[in-house]
Amino acid sequence: MIMEKTESILGKDEKHLWHGMKPYNPENTIIAKEAKGVWVTDESGRRMLDAMAGLWCVNVGYGREELAEAAYEQLKKLAYFPLTQSHEPSVKLAEKISDMLGGEYVVFFSNSGSEANETAFKIARQYHQQKGEGNRYKFISRYRAYHGNTGAALAATGQAQRKFKYEPLSGGFIHVPPPDLYRGEDKEDTKANELQSVKAIDNTMTWELSETIAGVIMEPIITGGGILMPPKEYLQGVKNICEHHGALLIVDEVICGFGRTGEPFGFMNYGVKPDIITMAKGITSAYLPLSATAVRRDIYEAFAGSEEYDYFRHVNTFGGSPAACALALKNIEIMENEHLFSRSKVKGKELLHLLQNKVKDHRYVGDVRGKGLLIGIELVEDKGTKKPLDVEKVNKIISFCKNKGVIIGKNGATVAGFNNVLTLSPPLCISDDEIIILAETVTEAIHSL
Ligand code: PLP
Repeated sequence: MIMEKTESILGKDEKHLWHGMKPYNPENTIIAKEAKGVWVTDESGRRMLDAMAGLWCVNVGYGREELAEAAYEQLKKLAYFPLTQSHEPSVKLAEKISDMLGGEYVVFFSNSGSEANETAFKIARQYHQQKGEGNRYKFISRYRAYHGNTGAALAATGQAQRKFKYEPLSGGFIHVPPPDLYRGEDKEDTKANELQSVKAIDNTMTWELSETIAGVIMEPIITGGGILMPPKEYLQGVKNICEHHGALLIVDEVICGFGRTGEPFGFMNYGVKPDIITMAKGITSAYLPLSATAVRRDIYEAFAGSEEYDYFRHVNTFGGSPAACALALKNIEIMENEHLFSRSKVKGKELLHLLQNKVKDHRYVGDVRGKGLLIGIELVEDKGTKKPLDVEKVNKIISFCKNKGVIIGKNGATVAGFNNVLTLSPPLCISDDEIIILAETVTEAIHSL
């Protein structure tokens, strides 16, 4: 009976559903039926430990009935009202996010991480115009980083393989190399003004003409591009350079936000104060679509002029829907009540140390790194040359884990030949026993090569 149902869903799936990213492969497609905590059950009844929390997003874990109830209660009371007007859940959530960020931010809601970044770019460009600096339209972002699938967010993305079929994209985006503590020249404790990766941004701003630069966008830690950790002083160094050149620092917290790196937001690991912060995924633990663009209050105030086009001429139908906001508030309450941010820090360290002890000496393991429950294992053919491990071998490790009932990931389509970083990003509620299952399965998979 179960098999029949599975086959019929698979058959229909192949006929009607266009999947993201990969060519369709029925043998490799998990048809999820239900999930609880870190465990996903498929149509055939097989349970799998989801060590990617979906797409790095189910931060509180699956099956939280309080979240479903929060949305249900709100839908019964007020299903919809546009945010050209207002409603209580959106106001409360904006206040909560601003508090989490230190109290000085104003929040614009959208539906996805891509949209949150698009919104940030529009705000930054118009802000400069409003201040009489209308030539500032360019953004600097980093190679290897992903910022979304829409025009400007994809233009900001530094992964050529994802982009070349869709060129030309939005103009005005310039890329610089990210810091790479494993392969690059920067070291963990290099001072901000001595970091090569900060100097690259400084030089680019000068060469492009400072007066044309609207801002810089970056994740605190590059996630999908290969878990690239910055040196401690990097983010502050970039902020200093932005201030020097009159540009805004936009921090993309779509993955790093809401506890992934062991702090409420990733930038908080580095003691910096961004001008604009974008967030999505963990804001609702992906139970409903929602994203936010938080801007410093004084940036928002620059839109309060009396000229006809001074206001922010931007709207979306679904962003900040009452149910998504009510659910997000409950989601953040769970994170706070269960101390999931500090849990991510502590359990992340334990998982990192476990993995380092178990696999660091393997001939294909070049580096094991991470912060909080965001961990990458960089695989190389040769530890001396650091030549990236062939993607076929990387895929074998992922398939081995899957066959053992553990879902892990690898960095996305980044740079040709560099699909060599295994990624772990489990729900923040992962238990000690589940951490051991995860570490042992990954270890066994690597040793099986
Ligand atoms: N920014 C980062 C860092 C992301 O990882 C993603 C998605 O994975 C996005 C932006 C885009 O978010 P969405 O897929 O919700 O549009």
